[in-house]
Formats: sequence, structure tokens, C-alpha cells
Amino acid sequence: MNIVLLAPPAAGKGTQALILAKKFGIVHISTGNLFRERIKVGDDLGHRLANILASGLLVEDEIVLQILASRLEKEDCQNGFILDGFPRTVNQGELLQELLNAQNRKLDYVFYLNVEKETLEKRVSGRRMCSKCGKIYNIYNPSSKPEKDGICDICKSELVIRPDDNIESYSKRYNEYQTKTVPLINYYHNNNLLYEIDGDRNVDEITEEIISVMKRDELND
Ligand code: AMP
Repeated sequence: MNIVLLAPPAAGKGTQALILAKKFGIVHISTGNLFRERIKVGDDLGHRLANILASGLLVEDEIVLQILASRLEKEDCQNGFILDGFPRTVNQGELLQELLNAQNRKLDYVFYLNVEKETLEKRVSGRRMCSKCGKIYNIYNPSSKPEKDGICDICKSELVIRPDDNIESYSKRYNEYQTKTVPLINYYHNNNLLYEIDGDRNVDEITEEIISVMKRDELND
């Protein structure tokens, strides 16, 4: 099963992607996480990516595609994948289609999590991320707070604030989303792949709705 999650930044894509990947035995691929890993190498490309990510602007398609294509080729993707943060432009949507066609694969679902800007601003200020496994927490939300301050419940590593989770970077990221990513909603709607989910609810309710859409769709097949 191959899924795309589409949503504004800090809408909860990563959280849902981790849950769904575990439930369906598919791989969670976050292009943002792939970049953050690449930055740790500390070479020229790493420095360039660090600057782009901190600015809140998008990385060039050529680099994104290269990193994504090599991840999709790995053996663990055979069962399926859930893409979090890719595609982010209609051009990337078309490039993904070409990549999947060449591998005889197809997308099954695109879930668009619709979240109000006010909720996003609250989520971004409380977001903490595990430096090792990538699990996302929110210190202001009792249902997604870590059990122990600053420590990941799962792997016990340190929780960090993403360098681009500040008001200035966030407003650029949101602007990039509005101008470049929103057109993808129509693109996938026209391809009959889009399912809109109200993302202004708690984590479990959102997961339940996504799963019920998939079950309903299976019954109709
Ligand atoms: P995310 O972790 O998805 O919020 O992504 C963090 C940052 O990585 C974004 O603000 C972009 O700078 C970059 N990025 C992630 N995915 C993409 C993509 N598909 N295309 C271009 N840039 C991306």
C-alpha cells in the first residue's frame, strides 16, 4: 500500500505517518527527516541543506528527487510506503508519478489533513522531536506530552526543538505551502486519489478516520 500525506507544516503528518506505517507494515519516508540525516554528514551538501531548511524555503527538486529515489529503491519499501512531506509541488507530484510508473507501482491514497492556521501555530510552538527515532511530541498537549520532560518515551533519547520551528521560519514555510503545495490538493482530487480529513482533532480521532476511509474503500472494491 502506497500513501501520500498532504498537509501544512506542523499539521501532524509525521505523527500519523509513524502510526500508520507501524499498523500496515509499510515504511515511513519523511523527506524532511532524510534531509536532517543528510545534514549530519557535515559536507558541502549538508551545509547547503541546513541553510535551506533553516530559511523555511523548499529544497530544489533535483536534490529532493535524488534522495527520495534512492530511498524508494531500498528493499524495505517493497511492501509499501507512506510519504510525509513529499510531494510538495505539482511538479514533484508529476515526478513521483513518473518514478512510480517506471517501477510498476502506483499510489493508493492521498490523505489531505486540513488544519486551521491558529492550531498550526500552537502546535509548532510546543513541538519537540526525538533526536534519534523522530517521534514527535507536543509539550502543551496532555495526550502527546512525553512522560518525562525532554526524553523520548520510546528510545529514551533527547528531545529537541527543530531549528526551523521558530516564528520567522514557520511563516516562510507556511507561505511556501500556500503558494506551492496547495495546488496539489486539486491535482490529486482530479486524479481521484484525494481524501480530505479534518486534522483539527486529536491524534487518535484522525488515525481512526484515515483507517475508516481505507476500510470503506476496500469494501467498495
Ligand atoms: P518537514 O520536515 O517536512 O517539515 O520539512 C522540513 C524542510 O525540509 C522544509 O521546510 C523544506 O525546506 C525541506 N523539504 C522537505 N521536503 C521537501 C520537499 N518535498 N521539497 C522541497 N523541500 C523539502
